[in-house]
Amino acid sequence: MKTLIYDLDLPALGTLLHTWGQPAYRAKQIWQGLYQQLWDTPEQFTSLPKTLRDKMAKELEFSPLTPTRKLDSSDGQTRKTLFRLPDGHQVEAVLMRYDPAPQTDDDSIRPATSRRTLCISTQVGCAMGCTFCATGQMGFTRHLSSGEIVAQVLYYARQLQQSGESVSNVVVMGMGEPFHNYDNTLAAIDRLNDSQGFNFGARRFTISTSGLVPAIRRFASEKRQVNLAISLHAAQDAQREAMMPVNKRYPISELIEACRDYVQATGRRITFEWALIHGVNDTPETARQLAALLKGLLCHVNAIPLNPTTGYQGKATTRERAAAFQRTLEQAGIPCTIRMRRGIDIQAGCGQLAARPGA
Ligand code: SAH
Ligand code: SF4
Repeated sequence: MKTLIYDLDLPALGTLLHTWGQPAYRAKQIWQGLYQQLWDTPEQFTSLPKTLRDKMAKELEFSPLTPTRKLDSSDGQTRKTLFRLPDGHQVEAVLMRYDPAPQTDDDSIRPATSRRTLCISTQVGCAMGCTFCATGQMGFTRHLSSGEIVAQVLYYARQLQQSGESVSNVVVMGMGEPFHNYDNTLAAIDRLNDSQGFNFGARRFTISTSGLVPAIRRFASEKRQVNLAISLHAAQDAQREAMMPVNKRYPISELIEACRDYVQATGRRITFEWALIHGVNDTPETARQLAALLKGLLCHVNAIPLNPTTGYQGKATTRERAAAFQRTLEQAGIPCTIRMRRGIDIQAGCGQLAARPGA
């Protein structure tokens, strides 16, 4: 198989071109074409000699993602794309538009300016087996390479470019556990962050993890500006274990200790994610336990009514119960937002990505 060009960082591209007998400045020229002009075919690099373009076409892969299905939600604000990878496996990525125009749902959380948030995948499937998550229900197939992760962002950046728009935020919350594929995920972020290329600020990325403690500690030690979110969903081990097998390996106390150390080391606020499941983890009692657990931690709770998946029986909380949950937390001094559910009609909501060709 050809080398995926997005798998190469700038020095690696330089080394490759050197072996092809090219002058040193070519690497930067190609880098800018890829990440500033967003070109995705060798023919677009018209300032390069034809022989080099031909060599690039022969040796390098420029389009690892073939969109096989595009679905738009009925409100026109969410688009999910299913991509086929070179080996035939599939992954999904989702673009969410947040516009300031008032809408029927919940005006209180509408941003003042438009945002284009992209949710990307890091693995085909996921090994973590969370019971309520469609990706977990499908099991693990393989990691994505850094270039396959990068390519998802570039794909949407090109689409938005056509309408004079751009990606404003990237959340690493699609298929897969990013900290199980740590090196490739962070390499992808670094590549997109490069100021000579795509120049996407680290603070505009958010990585979400189910709680792999050693990786959280490593991430903390690297002192990156990238935002961190933790999928918590339960405040007691028995309940969390039943929902998230990872909790057997890294129980809540160890997880929260790692989070406290992260905040201490970086001074950055952590987001805790919480899928509100009716009668399971949306009770006032649970909210009080959660508040006690997070006391004194620089954090924020992002709660979202559970999205339906075929393999899980639990039901979403109601609007009233969600509001009560939020109130309990806020009264205890823990900031909490109830997020809007997005793209449920096209199974593009959190935890609904399973890359089923028919879905
Ligand atoms: N593997 C990472 C990131 C991908 S999942 C993680 O687990 O954090 C993105 C988010 O969706 C996580 O917070 C996850 O817990 C949540 N999620 C999974 N299934 C869900 C569902 N059915 N409804 C709502 N949120 C869900
Ligand atoms: Fe994997 Fe995250 Fe889904 Fe759990 S919630 S199975 S970690 S993708």
